[in-house]
Amino acid sequence: MTNEQTPTPPGFSTTSIHAGEQREKPSHSITDPIVCASTYTFRDTQSVIDYIEQKQDRGEYGRYGNPNEWVVEKKIAALEQGEEAVVYSSGMASMVGLLMTLLNSGDEIIFFDECYHRSREFCNSHLARFGVRTRQVKTGDYAAMEAAINEKTKLLVSESPTNPHMSIVDLDRFATIGKRHGIPTLIDATLATPFNVRPLNHGVDLVMHSATKYMGGHNDLLAGAIVGSKNLLEPIRNLRGIMGAINSPHNLYLLERGLKTFELRMQRHNENGLAVARFLENHPRVEKVLYPGLESHPYHEIATETMSGFGGLVTFYVKDADWKETAAVVDATKIARIAPSLGGSETLIEQPLVMSYFQCTPEQRQSFGITDNMIRIACGLENTSDLVTDLDQALSSSSVTPSVSESAIK
Ligand SMILES: *Cc1c(COP(=O)(O)O)cnc(C)c1O
Repeated sequence: MTNEQTPTPPGFSTTSIHAGEQREKPSHSITDPIVCASTYTFRDTQSVIDYIEQKQDRGEYGRYGNPNEWVVEKKIAALEQGEEAVVYSSGMASMVGLLMTLLNSGDEIIFFDECYHRSREFCNSHLARFGVRTRQVKTGDYAAMEAAINEKTKLLVSESPTNPHMSIVDLDRFATIGKRHGIPTLIDATLATPFNVRPLNHGVDLVMHSATKYMGGHNDLLAGAIVGSKNLLEPIRNLRGIMGAINSPHNLYLLERGLKTFELRMQRHNENGLAVARFLENHPRVEKVLYPGLESHPYHEIATETMSGFGGLVTFYVKDADWKETAAVVDATKIARIAPSLGGSETLIEQPLVMSYFQCTPEQRQSFGITDNMIRIACGLENTSDLVTDLDQALSSSSVTPSVSESAIK
């Protein structure tokens, strides 16, 4: 009967709504004002000196940060249960900023091969120009990852879940390999979000997010974030200040606003993803569905052990369909909009072959596991039954007439 018990930590929504904010804001406003300033003024020379000697917590110049960013960084760090977060102008800016900070000429990094294709492209085509070597091993092959490590290896990277195959990484195992060799580990957890999994709690060192997706949540902004220890993030933040890959106060306000409803949105994304995946799995025109929440998914067990939900992204294969018959299913949907991206209110649908791999050779597509009859649907926040009904009518109405004319696909 004492009041010395550890207080119950606040829940996910309480954190996403209140963390990082001042109780009292300018003009007694309940929301954070958008501070449009490229620079911040000092009262006198002594206050400049105090700032330089870090006696003052305040803004200096817009490229190094702004008040709207500080709030968002604190919220994202709290949601991930990490020490700190650094927010960028896009997910790719955060990935590039992190890699440019941690790697030097002569270093090597190892990727699981289903990582976001632009991240791998940056490594293979650009980091290579600076003498950094990238090794790729098959996703989920932990022995191959460990075997690829040598004294030059400086970072182990994976995404989880991966896109569009939805493979799930055993985060404990992945983190243990890093620790055993003293190499930092990074997970791109964009598709999971801290609502569904928290890689830092499994011993992973750094988590990256494209906040453009679920965190922003409304298909109206681009942003990226990296979460980890203060020590690891300090040089990353310093380089970001030089690169200038910072988001505008307007965008950061939208991101803060999006985060207020994060839990509610994730619950609906998870519900819609699972319902759509189950519906598709039982549909006669569907050959196969990839969704970690389905018992048929190769990573179902590790997914249910480590994740509290599986998100809105569902990949499926239309039975005996060539690429045009597959396109006809996409074109026949009436609610889902044809677009890349995921994680916003609007459901988005795309055929990876056309949207992201149209200019690849058939051999390249095969190596990426992209087939002609594959469709990726990113369930939004619409009512579940409407999404299911829409897919049902699209699958039945599209079986007769292909919707695209002859085209230059290789
Ligand atoms: C979209 C995405 C990125 C890139 O993020 P941007 O905000 O578009 O730059 C990186 N990783 C994953 C898994 C993504 O879905």
